[in-house]
Amino acid sequence: MEFLQPTSWTEAVEAKAAHPGAVPVAGGTDVMVELNFDRRRPEALLDLTRVPELAAWSVHDGRIRLGAAVTYACVIDEIGDRLPGLAMASRTVGSPQIRNRGTVGGNLGAASPAGDAHPALLAADADVEVESVRGVRVVPVGEFYTGVKRNALEPDELIAGIWVTPPRGPQQFAKIGTRNAMVISVAAFGLALHPDRRQVGTGIGSAAPTPRRAPDAAAFLAGALEDAGLWESRRELPESLAREFGVRVRGAAAPIDDVRGTASYRLHALAVMARRTLAWAWSDYQKAA
Ligand SMILES: Cc1cc2nc3c(=O)[nH]c(=O)nc-3n(C[C@H](O)[C@H](O)[C@H](O)COP(=O)(O)OP(=O)(O)OC[C@H]3O[C@@H](n4cnc5c(N)ncnc54)[C@H](O)[C@@H]3O)c2cc1C
Repeated sequence: MEFLQPTSWTEAVEAKAAHPGAVPVAGGTDVMVELNFDRRRPEALLDLTRVPELAAWSVHDGRIRLGAAVTYACVIDEIGDRLPGLAMASRTVGSPQIRNRGTVGGNLGAASPAGDAHPALLAADADVEVESVRGVRVVPVGEFYTGVKRNALEPDELIAGIWVTPPRGPQQFAKIGTRNAMVISVAAFGLALHPDRRQVGTGIGSAAPTPRRAPDAAAFLAGALEDAGLWESRRELPESLAREFGVRVRGAAAPIDDVRGTASYRLHALAVMARRTLAWAWSDYQKAA
């Protein structure tokens, strides 16, 4: 197996063009497991750990750009106050070791329906910046997941970065697993309230072939908050509204039975998580007044 080790982003992109079959390695917490279990035997590995640009984050016109190899630990320690939803999701990933190695770009590269960054990125309307020698393109995260563990990358493309706008409203994340840490989610849900544009962001994990949004639930909630004047008044949220939101989030999912949980449990869990995250987010919104 060939081992390619670029030391700059330009070299990395050129190496991917020359070896489209090369498998990129960032933290290696997904790739190395696959190699160890012999699930994958690529012709080449493209090591991205020596490309310093990839591990950096920056702010441009108020938006945050995470280099693809920014780790969960970095999100939590350095940007957690600005990207609370992604930080909450990051805190639930694996263990300290996995959070030190594992990257947000790697989660997108693996595109597992159970990846914890996805619900938060979907709820926050993140964009994925991808690059090849042919140029740069920006893929809205909702269009990035194309199938079970498949994404929108062409064979010669790499993920360069992830763009997320720091929110003007509260964000929440909930994940159900069989224990509290070191667990792949049975189901997960990300929520963002966007009072500035009177919209609601949602993200469902582990309950469909790909991470996905719950657009009907989001439109319902945004409209109900508008109709009742609640965006302005921040009064108590009617219980019936939160319940209906949960029901509609459940309606957006298409889970399967597998070793981690049954489809019916996942549906139930999603309705509960949607209701709870909304209650938490609304409480945050009231406190921020
Ligand atoms: C013990 C353990 C616990 C875990 N727990 C969790 C968990 O709780 N939640 C969770 O979501 N995940 C979990 N994972 C999975 C894994 O840690 C995450 O998916 C992590 O985000 C992967 O990041 P990485 O940098 O290690 O990716 P890598 O393994 O380096 O790469 C993952 C995939 O992305 C591709 N890739 C990486 N960088 C790029 C790039 N710049 N451009 C294009 N493709 C790229 C790789 O080719 C590969 O296909 C766990 C893994 C282990 C081993």
